[in-house]
Amino acid sequence: MTFAISGDCCSDASCVAVCPMNSIHPSPGEPGFGTGASLFIDPRTCIDCGACADICPVDAAKPADSSAAEDVQRNAEYFAERQPLQAMDLDSWEPPTYQVWGGGPRRVLVVGAGPAGMYATRELLLRTTAEVTVVDRSQHLGGLVRCGVAPDHPQTKQIIENFERLVRHRRVHWRPGTDAATLRSGPGGLPDGYDAVVHAVGARQSRRLGITGEDAACSAEDFVAWYNGRPGASLPVELVGPQAVVVGNGNVALDLARLLLSDEEQLRAMDLQRDVRRVLSASGVKKVVLLGRRGPDEAAYTESALRELLAVAGDRVELRYHARPTAWTSAGLTLGTGETIAAGNLFTAIGFEGRPIDGLPFDAGRGIVPNVRGAVVGRPGHYVAGWIKRGARGGIGVNKACAQETVMTLVSSSRGVASPGS
Ligand SMILES: Cc1cc2nc3c(=O)[nH]c(=O)nc-3n(C[C@H](O)[C@H](O)[C@H](O)COP(=O)(O)OP(=O)(O)OC[C@H]3O[C@@H](n4cnc5c(N)ncnc54)[C@H](O)[C@@H]3O)c2cc1C
Repeated sequence: MTFAISGDCCSDASCVAVCPMNSIHPSPGEPGFGTGASLFIDPRTCIDCGACADICPVDAAKPADSSAAEDVQRNAEYFAERQPLQAMDLDSWEPPTYQVWGGGPRRVLVVGAGPAGMYATRELLLRTTAEVTVVDRSQHLGGLVRCGVAPDHPQTKQIIENFERLVRHRRVHWRPGTDAATLRSGPGGLPDGYDAVVHAVGARQSRRLGITGEDAACSAEDFVAWYNGRPGASLPVELVGPQAVVVGNGNVALDLARLLLSDEEQLRAMDLQRDVRRVLSASGVKKVVLLGRRGPDEAAYTESALRELLAVAGDRVELRYHARPTAWTSAGLTLGTGETIAAGNLFTAIGFEGRPIDGLPFDAGRGIVPNVRGAVVGRPGHYVAGWIKRGARGGIGVNKACAQETVMTLVSSSRGVASPGS
């Protein structure tokens, strides 16, 4: 599914800046910008991340399935004769407003090749003349886009192609399979040979409910890693059903429920490893109860994610709110009211948190590295971007503005302006 812009568009173009795919046009400087009535989203390249909707001041960007049919058509028609533009095509990119500055850091290390690390790399290429080394402990680019985004959302995963183009840039040195913890430290606690490091390591450890019996449940971290085929990941429980409870009210909880309830044909259309598809097809889970701590108005899932789940298995999903689980036993999930919901499986999807990074301060309550606009507090030369900077919330596109802020801070600090974190 994609997004579309309605006739309410105010053309202030905030959405153009945050779109990770460069899918919104006309952008400032292009013919038609400021003179046409509206901006448009290219449905061929939109990855459905929702960053445009989050920032739109007039609520004009909406999922296509909740937009008027004529708006969807207007967006598609605008691009019918145009070639899709490739975001991050830096060799032909002429950023009209950026000052490419020749001073500053000469060698920057970016740790993590998820969205935040890749957007930080892009900004470093645009704003500095630094050589950028990108390391990731996995063998692949993309972070959670590869191993978090659900396998029935291939359109979202296409952003990885942009990241692949980015690491082919002549100033980027891509080192897959490298854990930052193995790099030798140099002066000032920075990795040897680097003037600055951007830690973009994400936050993928599942938060715990803290209830009795939780160790026999399956966390979103484990389930998502398994169904996305992360090397070494396995399913820690048997899918016995017939009823499963998923605790959580965000999009990840809905992803889990959708995957659990997809039928044979739906599973066949997904990009799944054969043994994952076999286990899901043979699963005993026939119904899912989704449990939220708060009411429906405060649920964190998006309307479009809910519609997608209900379209897959509307009659086999029960949504319950204001529920407080207290214990998980072989009988099911007991709530604070004393009621037990009979279930063979419990999944927890109540959010993610970061892990401490060696040598850096850590805010255990928020699961982030404390920072001021990306500069790590009290550690000059160290910066953070993405989920480890601001906590585990926000889709792919949000990491673009987040990384831009971090690189702006890095560049200002390198120019001799006092680092806000020092
Ligand atoms: C299950 C799930 C589904 C999601 N689905 C969507 C979706 O459909 N649409 C959407 O817009 N957003 C989605 N999101 C949100 C999106 O994935 C995040 O916004 C984004 O991935 C955060 O980017 P990041 O770079 O901070 O972290 P990550 O994507 O986690 O990237 C961090 C990278 O750092 C690497 N790393 C960690 N430690 C080290 C180390 N010590 N040394 C070297 N490398 C290291 C990791 O291997 C990883 O590649 C989803 C999130 C989850 C959890």
